[in-house]
Amino acid sequence: MKILMVGSGFSGAVIGRELAEAGHDVTIVDARSHIAGNCHTERDNETGVMVHAYGPHIFHTDDQEVWEYVNRFMTFKPYVNRVKTTSKGQVFSLPINLHTINQFFGKTMRPDEAREFIEAQADTSIEDPQTFEEQALRFVGRDLYEAFFKGYTQKQWGCHPRELPASILKRLPVRFNYNDNYFFHRFQGMPEAGYTKLVEGILDHPNISVYLNTRFDREQAAEYDHVFYSGPLDGFFDFELGRLGYRTLDFERFTYQGDYQGCAVMNYGEESVPYTRITEHKHFSPWEEHEGSVCYREYSRACEPQDVPYYPIRLVNEKALLARYVQMAKEQEKVTFVGRLGTYRYLDMDVTIREALDTARGFLECLKKNEPVPTFFVET
Ligand code: FAD
Ligand code: UDP
Repeated sequence: MKILMVGSGFSGAVIGRELAEAGHDVTIVDARSHIAGNCHTERDNETGVMVHAYGPHIFHTDDQEVWEYVNRFMTFKPYVNRVKTTSKGQVFSLPINLHTINQFFGKTMRPDEAREFIEAQADTSIEDPQTFEEQALRFVGRDLYEAFFKGYTQKQWGCHPRELPASILKRLPVRFNYNDNYFFHRFQGMPEAGYTKLVEGILDHPNISVYLNTRFDREQAAEYDHVFYSGPLDGFFDFELGRLGYRTLDFERFTYQGDYQGCAVMNYGEESVPYTRITEHKHFSPWEEHEGSVCYREYSRACEPQDVPYYPIRLVNEKALLARYVQMAKEQEKVTFVGRLGTYRYLDMDVTIREALDTARGFLECLKKNEPVPTFFVET
């Protein structure tokens, strides 16, 4: 079959590879001048440091098959994400752990004492937290919420934490020990030569052709037996019903001789600092040596038509519009919408790869059984 894949991020690359291996003829187009989508990495010209061009990306997963899949194409170096945050004139450890709690309250509590102490801070009148703010007040109390979450979240999402769902904060753990690993997952690491090289390896198959600087238009679809589309869902329909809301990021690059901040990611919890975090990229490759250092100050704002869409907002209005676009999408024949933009969801890389593998397998199964191919293989 002749397959068109729109986008060469993890979604397009993994589905493309699976279908190429099954003997299909895969054409991949990407509007950008590089492969790998938002996970793109490149060497900084001035310092030689490997830079995560669209913001810091750390690979972490519990999914053994996905971990083995990425390791097939690239050596992963051990890497544990340890994030710090600056607030009220001090540097603290994240996610909130025993060190953070003891330092913040000037105490030397043991785990059980800290648990009791935090429970006393928490607002237990909130029984079923619905909003981000309620979730924070219920689980860590007002002082920690105001120091670490309130300002950061206001900057990141451009609205008050009481307008956001509790689910955003549920991504972050609170720990009553000194474990400062930002993630829970069994497997964590960094691709030795960067994510773009990893995606290059996935795309390296004789049945795959990649065309960069090539924007998809719907008329192209007629030349193919099936299209997988990992671009923005609303963009497929030329934003006919309006735009789905996204946050975009601006990165302010600066260089430094030596070590600027001593860690890869430093968050800024207070609203008075206009950026959310500073990423010092060389700390993502601790096995490399570089004299110079390149850092990105990261600013979040509403996404305008010409900007790169990063975080889907998914509040009540967006969800209503999403439902209408999903309806339109379901009327399409021979198109499957995939990935973070095609399904308008925040997806980590491992989840993206899991969904891509399942989609490719589901598609091959449909062909085998001569059944229609779904427009979406996942719930939006
Ligand atoms: P994308 O990477 O966005 O790829 C889509 C591709 O489609 C792009 O290359 C785009 O140019 C192309 N395209 C779009 N429209 C068209 C069109 N009309 N024609 C042609 N091409 C088109 N995940 C983690 O696991 N760990 C992390 O630490 C992490 N950090 C993140 C930090 C930030 C700031 C953000 C925003 C995300 C982070 N992620 C992280 C998530 C990760 O970026 C995604 O999982 C991944 O990018 C999803 O891949 P994708 O292929 O679905 O989408
Ligand atoms: N968050 C915060 N302070 C921090 C880090 C995170 O308030 O120092 C909030 C913020 O709203 C963010 C959410 O917690 O969107 C989830 O954090 P995570 O680190 O998963 O953010 P992401 O990787 O999505 O940028």
